[in-house]
Amino acid sequence: MKKTLTKAQVKTAVEEAFSKVKNLKGGKNANYIPFLANIDPDLFGLSLTLPDGEQFNLGDTEYKFGIESVSKVLTAILILKEYGAEGVLQKIGADATGLPFNSIFAILLENDHPSTPLVNAGAISACSMVTPQGDSDAKWKKIIDNISDLCASPAPVLDELYKSESATNFNNRAIAWLLKNYNRIYDDPDMSLDLYTRQCSVGITASQLSICAATIANKGFNPVSKKQIFAEELAPKITTLISSVGFYQHTGDWLYTSGIPAKSGVGGGVLGVLPGVFGIAAFAPPLDEAGNSVKAQAAVKAVMNKLGLGVFNGDQIEIAD
Ligand code: GLN
Repeated sequence: MKKTLTKAQVKTAVEEAFSKVKNLKGGKNANYIPFLANIDPDLFGLSLTLPDGEQFNLGDTEYKFGIESVSKVLTAILILKEYGAEGVLQKIGADATGLPFNSIFAILLENDHPSTPLVNAGAISACSMVTPQGDSDAKWKKIIDNISDLCASPAPVLDELYKSESATNFNNRAIAWLLKNYNRIYDDPDMSLDLYTRQCSVGITASQLSICAATIANKGFNPVSKKQIFAEELAPKITTLISSVGFYQHTGDWLYTSGIPAKSGVGGGVLGVLPGVFGIAAFAPPLDEAGNSVKAQAAVKAVMNKLGLGVFNGDQIEIAD
């Protein structure tokens, strides 16, 4: 069915979702990365970007928080650009693990591939694939430039977060070397892990993330910079990856109840993509036990439910002035 929404309706839905969720309690900051444990748990931002670049921003949408696992989506785009959809499928895979983001068990179960670029193993493997091989500085430049292209503005590394995460990432070190054991890492394991840790430590705002989400929703066309960042045919591939594993072991419940493919990070960020319609992002540090922000989930879900939208609803959505 064809369904038309006005910009005013969308704006109202975002405002209502923000007020409804603002005082929601529950969840805990990530504490296995010491830096994240000390972020103000009351920070909360909600941002929606339309295909013409208009944004609705509420709350702390200019606060730079740790992008963490949301970065996996951005670097997956980079390797999709470099290797194509088939190359990423062969080298990493596009399967859900149904297990926590840092699962070693998942690697042991499916050691013929790291499953998907959106869990730690696949994301470290993705960093190893970024070209040119063996040149950490050149690889990093590609990763960070790709982040600014997708977000339409630069994003700095939060040095304290990078140090904090580098000093405590023992589980990820095990993952990197286990991948090496199975020939599923394509450059030096320690270098690949360091690139992954650095990309997770990038400080991003909810407003920037919603521009990135809108770029994916717009088939690679960034509505703010007005540049085509990646080929149109990669958009459904990236949205498929997000749909299948974006919230780890809670992904099915999430998609079933919210109707929007979304990816979380333990910094409290969530990026949601409604193809052809809009990009949305929310940020609030307290997380549920799978590492997904409690308030960000509630806010995105409230917007979707209020507007009666869902990626599988079969509606053709138009947003009018
Ligand atoms: N950098 C974090 C880690 O590797 C990212 C995890 C996440 O955001 N889910 O543990």
